[in-house]
Amino acid sequence: MFAQRLAQVAPSATLKAAAEAERLRRAGHKVIDFTAGEPDFPTPEHVKAAGKAAIDANFTRYTAAAGIPELRDAICARYKGQYGVDITAAEVLLTNGGKQALFNAALALFNDGDEVITHAPYWPTIPEQVKLVGAKPVIVQTRAEEGFALHPDELIAAITPKTKAIIVNSPCNPTGGLVDEAALTPIVDAAARRGIWVIVDLCYEQLIYEKVPHNLVKVLFDRHRDRTVIAGSASKSYAMTGWRCGWTIAPRDLTSVFNIIQGQTTSNITSITQKAALAAVAGPQTAVQEMLTEYRTRRDNIHAWLTAHPAIKCVKPKGAFYLFPDISGLLAPGTTSTDFAQGLLEKEHVVVTPGEAFDAPGYLRISYATSMEQLREGATRILRYAESLQPAKAGTR
Ligand code: PMP
Repeated sequence: MFAQRLAQVAPSATLKAAAEAERLRRAGHKVIDFTAGEPDFPTPEHVKAAGKAAIDANFTRYTAAAGIPELRDAICARYKGQYGVDITAAEVLLTNGGKQALFNAALALFNDGDEVITHAPYWPTIPEQVKLVGAKPVIVQTRAEEGFALHPDELIAAITPKTKAIIVNSPCNPTGGLVDEAALTPIVDAAARRGIWVIVDLCYEQLIYEKVPHNLVKVLFDRHRDRTVIAGSASKSYAMTGWRCGWTIAPRDLTSVFNIIQGQTTSNITSITQKAALAAVAGPQTAVQEMLTEYRTRRDNIHAWLTAHPAIKCVKPKGAFYLFPDISGLLAPGTTSTDFAQGLLEKEHVVVTPGEAFDAPGYLRISYATSMEQLREGATRILRYAESLQPAKAGTR
C-alpha cells in the first residue's frame, strides 16, 4: 500500500524514548530526560528580537527558494572569518535545518544502488536518508578506545566502483568525536582521485571543546571543491532548533539542482526565521561562547560522575553535547543496552537512548544539553541503577 522505498527506513529511536518519557511524566513521575538532541538554552534575545521585528515589518511572504541574499552573504562572511575560504552566495542555499541540507544532497546525488560510505556510531538520519533515496549505506566503524577517531585507511578500503559519496559528521552525534584535518585529508584525496562526493555534516561545528585542527572546510576546498557539500545549521550553535534554519555550501551547479528540488517541494525556509538567523550569524557571538562554556562544565561533571563507577567506561567527548559511555561491563549475560535503558526508565525514571539506535550496542547516549541539577540527579540515579545490577559483573572492565 505504501511506497516501497519506505520498506527499508527505520523510525527514529529517540522519538520512541521521548514518548516513553512522556508516558511516565503523565503518570506523575519525576522523569530525568537525557534524550534531548537540542540545546536547553533559549534562543538569544537579539535573535528573537529580529524574528519579532520581521513579523512587525510584514516580512511574511515567500522569499527566493534559496533564501534571502543577505543571509546567504552573511554565511559566506562567517565561513571566510572562521575558515578563511571564499564562498559566493550562489554556492549557498538555505534549508529547513541541516536535515534538509543532507536530504537535498541525497536526492540530488544518489541513484538506486549507489554506495555511500559513512562512519559509525552514527546519527541515524544519515544512513536512513541514504536508504530513502534507494542507495546503500556502507558503514565504517570507529572505536571508543581510540576516542572514536576515524581511520582514513579503513574508510578508503571501503571504497568500491559503486561508491558515490562519503558522509562525514564532525563533531559527531552520538560520540562527540572529531574528524581532524589529518584524518580527512587522505580521504578527500582518495575521493578526488575517483570523483567521489564528500559531504560533511558540520551541524555541531561551534561546539568544540578541544583545540584540534578542524578546518575541514579548507581541506575540502583546497583539494576537492567541485565535489564537496557542506551541511550547516543554526540549530545547535544558536539554540534555534525550532526555527528550522540550515544551509548547504556546494558548487554552483549542484546548488542550482538543490534550488529546483526545494522549489518543487518546500520552497523557501520561513521568512521570519531567515531574519532571525541573519541576526544570529552576523550579530555578536557572545551567546555561542557562553553556551560552549556551560556545556564544557556539564561535560566535565557528568563524565566524572559516571566514570566514578568502575564498570562504566567513557571517552571524554571533544565536541557536540553527548556523552557516549560503554556500559557493556554492567550487562548481565544475554542482556543488551536496550534492556538497560528500559530498566533505567522503569526503575529510576531516567530516559537515555540505547546505543543500538546508533549502531553501537553496549553504549548509551546521554545528552548533557540539560541543567546541572538534572545531570547531578540523573547521574545519581544511573549509578544507583548500576549498583542494583548483578554485583558480580560490576568492577569488570
Ligand atoms: N546533523 C546531526 C549530526 C544532528 O545531530 C542533527 C540534529 N540532531 C542535524 C544534523 C540536523 O539538525 P537540524 O535539522 O535541526 O539542523
